[in-house]
Amino acid sequence: MMELSGKVMPAVAASYFKALFNAWPTARQLRTLRGAKRAPRCLLCDGAEDSIEHIACCRCSVRVFAKFRVHCGNLIEFLALDSSARIDEILAAKAKALHVIFQIRLVYLHAPRSAALSPVELLRTIVGNVCSMPTAC
Ligand SMILES: [Zn+2]
Repeated sequence: MMELSGKVMPAVAASYFKALFNAWPTARQLRTLRGAKRAPRCLLCDGAEDSIEHIACCRCSVRVFAKFRVHCGNLIEFLALDSSARIDEILAAKAKALHVIFQIRLVYLHAPRSAALSPVELLRTIVGNVCSMPTAC
């Protein structure tokens, strides 16, 4: 927490810690709660089960991480638990990428995809909002 203090907005830190504590509302978690047999597809790519494990390596997540010039190829890198995240700037960039992914998922969770902005427009808008803070990316 101290490493992120003053480097990212509180909302960014909250998204990061929700991911660390497996508190993102994925379909797989909700399926368990509701007793459904099959989880809906990923909100980002519609190509796999909506779970934190998939989101970590989803092609859309990889693109968001690339926007922040950090690598993500697995759950360890997604959660910034890899050795590169010991560098404060990389940890902050990964937390920002996580927050953007969290926000995009919220938009698609609460709005039909046809009514929402296109994925490219949505990414541009949310990245712009995250990067407009004083300690911008
Ligand atoms: Zn996906």
